[in-house]
Amino acid sequence: MMPVNQAEAKILDLMTPLDAKQDSESVSLLAADGRILAEDVVSSLDFPHWDNSAMDGYAVRFMDTKTEGAGKPVSLTITEEIPAGYLPQQSVGAGQAARIFTGGMLPEGADTVIMQEHTQREGDRIFIMEPPKRGDFVRRQGAYYKAGQTLLRAGTRLGAADIAVLAAAQCPQVQVYRRPRVAILSTGNELVSPEQPLQPGQIVDSNQYALAALVQRTGAEAICLGIVPDDPDQLKAAIAQAVAQSDMVLSSGGVSVGDYDYVDRILADLGGTLHIRAVAVKPGKPLTVATLEREGRSHLYFGLPGNPVSALVSVWRFVQPALRKLSGITTDWRPTFVMGHPSQLLKSDGKRETYLWGSTYYLNGAYEFNLAGGSHSSGNLINLAQTNSLAIIPIGQKQIPIGGSVRIILLD
Ligand code: AMP
Ligand code: MG
Repeated sequence: MMPVNQAEAKILDLMTPLDAKQDSESVSLLAADGRILAEDVVSSLDFPHWDNSAMDGYAVRFMDTKTEGAGKPVSLTITEEIPAGYLPQQSVGAGQAARIFTGGMLPEGADTVIMQEHTQREGDRIFIMEPPKRGDFVRRQGAYYKAGQTLLRAGTRLGAADIAVLAAAQCPQVQVYRRPRVAILSTGNELVSPEQPLQPGQIVDSNQYALAALVQRTGAEAICLGIVPDDPDQLKAAIAQAVAQSDMVLSSGGVSVGDYDYVDRILADLGGTLHIRAVAVKPGKPLTVATLEREGRSHLYFGLPGNPVSALVSVWRFVQPALRKLSGITTDWRPTFVMGHPSQLLKSDGKRETYLWGSTYYLNGAYEFNLAGGSHSSGNLINLAQTNSLAIIPIGQKQIPIGGSVRIILLD
């Protein structure tokens, strides 16, 4: 059994990202949320584009604002009014000021803005009641970003703020990685789909749906290939077909040590290399990770355990990070870990790294983990519903007391 950290590192190491040239497409900004940039974006615009005012006030030459004698405020003559979007027509000369509003373009000659509240107005003159500092309230051209520098790097996952930046930089189309294609198949003679009538001995294939949801949430396309019986020939054909039409395959079931667990053998038959067969984790011990070569590319195959909770925990812990790397993301592949305190006693047999599911809330400055009620069996899918996190008990540790310190994965 491979330790969790080692399995995680091995999987990420085996994963080759999509190709930025061959596996990319152009999308409009309205379709860009969650997509991964395939190339660096450089803007030909400075930010701000030109010197402008950060306040409602008066644009002046700093040298004109110094008081001549004690108690006598400086007075300046107003030249013109510059609202946002207006191109100044006059330059500000000695003894002059331009009325300016927030976002207004700084007129030639001016280098400082005096806020309105620090002036008094009389007709076309203002009196400076509080002298400014040089450069006050001027947003200088290029102060935030200089044209030609890298604005956003390839491998960035785009969110609302990035999309705003791209829009402002006048990039209405962006080159992003195509969505990775992930084939999903469920193995087991006992499985039926949710709409089929259930006969004695049968159960519903819930994994197909849960895995598809997780794959889609990670920004990939799920190719649902349905249920395959525990028959070596049918399974071999289904796996070969899954590999042929995807970038990554997830199967569930059939990777344990039972007489009907054929997946590992078939992967070897198909010329695959088995890198992991079991991980020291609970739930989720039987986990097969293999690579298959197809068209010169190494294709990652995850044979997940059939137990619904084990399958999900394996995806959260191992598959989603690999999928993030596949999708072109260059950082932050791993799950989100935080430290917190359990509000119940957490127990393990100490033999494998143990994951317990529950709900984590941020309360009084710390994360509090609340264990889900009911059985923590890997076959009990029901109490996994409405949880948002996994608490981790390391190997060798048998319990974590109430209020103790526990590492938690926050699920998204
Ligand atoms: P296996 O890993 O094939 O030995 O399956 C372990 C357990 O998970 C068995 O109780 C199966 O019935 C159950 N199981 C396997 N595949 C699925 C599935 N797709 N959906 C729900 N339960 C499953
Ligand atoms: Mg099975």
